[in-house]
Amino acid sequence: MPDEDLSAALRASLEEEQRTLLAQLGEIQSDTDEGQGFDDNFADSGQVAAEQGEVRVVATTLQEQLDDVEHALVRLDEGTYGTCETCRQPIVAARLEAMPATRFCIEHAGA
Ligand SMILES: [Zn+2]
Repeated sequence: MPDEDLSAALRASLEEEQRTLLAQLGEIQSDTDEGQGFDDNFADSGQVAAEQGEVRVVATTLQEQLDDVEHALVRLDEGTYGTCETCRQPIVAARLEAMPATRFCIEHAGA
């Protein structure tokens, strides 16, 4: 568990990231809603489908990032934040500062 000052700073950046992600997801959602009904007269509906597919990929990525951020906030509350979920060892502070929502130490990242 990182010290109190670092925890407060990490919580602040996680909450900011959460707000940003929610805003981006909200924007994508409204874009998608506006786009509905376009298909009928659109010359290249294949392109529309491709763009909608891209939007879905972006939305999924944002949602995954949001899940990680919210998971990190829960762990901060529980006092289990800052340890690797694979080996249970503390994650170095520099890594937490760079990636506050990370669940893993450098060795187990990308698993
Ligand atoms: Zn680890």
